[in-house]
Amino acid sequence: MELRLYDTLTKEKRVFTPLDPKRVRMYVCGPTVYDFAHIGNARPVIVFDVLYRLLRHLYGAPHVKYVRNITDVDDKINARAAERGIPIRELTEETYKNFKADVAALGCLPPDVEPRATEHIEEMKILIEKLVADKHAYVAEEHVLFSVPSMKDYGQLSKRPLDEMIAGARVDVAPYKKDPMDFVLWKPSKNGEPSWPSPSGIETPGRPGWHIECSAMSWKHLGETFDIHGGGIDLVFPHHENEIAQTRCAFHTGVMANTWMHNGFLQVEGEKMAKSTGNFVTIHELLQDWPGEVLRFNMLRTHYRQPIDWTIKGLEESFSTLRSLTDLPGFETDVEQDFAPAVLDALADDLNTPKAIAELHGLHQRQDHAALASTLRALGFSKRPESKRSVDKQKVENLIATRLDARKAKNWAESDRIRDELAAMGVVLKDSKDGTTWEVTR
Ligand SMILES: [Zn+2]
Repeated sequence: MELRLYDTLTKEKRVFTPLDPKRVRMYVCGPTVYDFAHIGNARPVIVFDVLYRLLRHLYGAPHVKYVRNITDVDDKINARAAERGIPIRELTEETYKNFKADVAALGCLPPDVEPRATEHIEEMKILIEKLVADKHAYVAEEHVLFSVPSMKDYGQLSKRPLDEMIAGARVDVAPYKKDPMDFVLWKPSKNGEPSWPSPSGIETPGRPGWHIECSAMSWKHLGETFDIHGGGIDLVFPHHENEIAQTRCAFHTGVMANTWMHNGFLQVEGEKMAKSTGNFVTIHELLQDWPGEVLRFNMLRTHYRQPIDWTIKGLEESFSTLRSLTDLPGFETDVEQDFAPAVLDALADDLNTPKAIAELHGLHQRQDHAALASTLRALGFSKRPESKRSVDKQKVENLIATRLDARKAKNWAESDRIRDELAAMGVVLKDSKDGTTWEVTR
């Protein structure tokens, strides 16, 4: 069985061969903890959870190490803590706790390590010192900057023309930069901001730039070179490009990670998610209305590299599909999990989850209930979704009785109207010779 993954760096789907099959290593960029995570943040968490489950299946759980970091030092964090008048650590603790609860509800396994940036300042400083010693970085006005021209093949991941990169990075052309592309490894802290003793002989206390933390944490927990680095497509440039530059120049290696994987963008109801347009939805809010497993299923219906349009209609479809797939004896009480061969084949082809879901339908049609149940669990679905809507039972029963009278009187128009009214409440009727039963379907 061959696992093939699309690599953003080489732009091809390749057979995945771990550096050491006894120690398969994956790093995924995690959340910046200052507020509830939005549904776009849930996409990499779910996608790489499926990959993690697949790798554990292929190589054995003790042989896979998944690291997802927590960015707990950042301008947005400082600003939010000041705004709320609470200590930074309180804000980051609270946000991290909420994030953990959200992604657990989405059926995601916790990674093996969730390192915090603020607990890896020493590693960052070691990397910075190495880069300065090798002339890949320089000190200017109490900043340490990475010198982009010092790396001959900078820009391989995003392969963008230089002017586009400058625009994309919203580079502030600070006077102390030798080149506009140079980026910050370390900067002085302003009053009240978190600070640490600075590296490279800088006297003023300071704090790290964003990119250096992932180079430091992946090095600490996975080594100088590892197997898979993942994240959202928006991280390709500048974040991942700069991680590559720091790590490769610090360790004089040809690659940082052998496979670079990026999930596509997420839109909400056909529009880019933005606070200003009011379509900014958090995982937390969605979980008030929808079971976590429905959100997970809805995410996996689209291939991870494709853009996804997140809609209420899609969620309704996901709810009813997952209801029917999980209508299995013993589904929630049994524990066995394993991927059916056809589902495994689909996932091994660059995580083709839409194909995997089509194969679930195949198992359902063939009434292969045992295989369906154990595959669903292997994919992270262990509960049958239950509606979070509260419906007025008496009202539903009354409408059903009125509809029955209408049908007896052969008033089909009235009968259909009542069925539609119930459907709008999320209630679907099932007529049989024994009478009418109903179910809430979203
Ligand atoms: Zn990162």
